[in-house]
Amino acid sequence: MTTEHFVLHEVVTGVWAAEADLTGASVGNATIIDAGGKTIIVDTFMTEVAAQELRRVSEELTGNQVYLAVNSHWHADHTNGNQVFADVPIVSTRETMERLIEEMMPKGLASWQEEIETSIASLQDSADDDHKAAKQLEQLRHFKNSADTFKLTLPDLLIDGRLVIEGERRIEIETRGKGHTVSDTVVWLPEERLVITGDLCWNGIHPRMHDGFPGAWAKYVEEILDMDPLHVIPGHGRPGDVAALSDLPEYFRSVEVLIDQVRAGTDPKEIPAPAVSMSWHGLGRMQAGLQVLADR
Ligand SMILES: [Zn+2]
Repeated sequence: MTTEHFVLHEVVTGVWAAEADLTGASVGNATIIDAGGKTIIVDTFMTEVAAQELRRVSEELTGNQVYLAVNSHWHADHTNGNQVFADVPIVSTRETMERLIEEMMPKGLASWQEEIETSIASLQDSADDDHKAAKQLEQLRHFKNSADTFKLTLPDLLIDGRLVIEGERRIEIETRGKGHTVSDTVVWLPEERLVITGDLCWNGIHPRMHDGFPGAWAKYVEEILDMDPLHVIPGHGRPGDVAALSDLPEYFRSVEVLIDQVRAGTDPKEIPAPAVSMSWHGLGRMQAGLQVLADR
């Protein structure tokens, strides 16, 4: 099936990772689950246009309407598409719902629109002969369209622990508290041993840590590893196996030490990647995160 805003990977029969990001409109990954007669969506992308494609494709793939959507955490690239799923229950934790309200009302949307306009203006001149700038401009135009038609659509089915969906496939939606954000939710398919981690896992990419808690994050990932997953659908990057998760606890324990070094005066831009993450992309994201966490 051809898709414009994401790449589909059928990870096990009837479960598709929708990997961001061909046009810049999706940003974070989403997942489609065929639960036998009903379709479940995990995360809703960054923009309305990507979420619309996600919904259309999911209904084509499964032959069924969307029954439920899940927000793994509050970040916009996993929740901004919620308005496309306003007619079905959206599951999250109360903390995730509360953060969505805090971030978007009343100032968040206006400042996002302002930021988009400023970035578009600064890129417009260079975009004609610069491929990277042209790609960024394409993404910003998707953001602008999405911001202009944005309707805050909150989760309305709140979990505090675990929600189990029985049927042809058992699906466990569960939270163990904070990690990548103040509250993260994972989806676990015990028969397939498949875990959908949200942004607790970035596969081969330094994760964004600005809103995170490295110690709790390490522990959360260890608890997921204890479930003995075979298949991992991360919040960013390609779906993979347990190797996508196994280095993360050590990474976050290193990060805790590095934060202390920044507090003691080391420039985070001078800090190299921890040994387990030498091959990962996006070192600048780690360095920026160290500064934010050191200042907190
Ligand atoms: Zn996130």
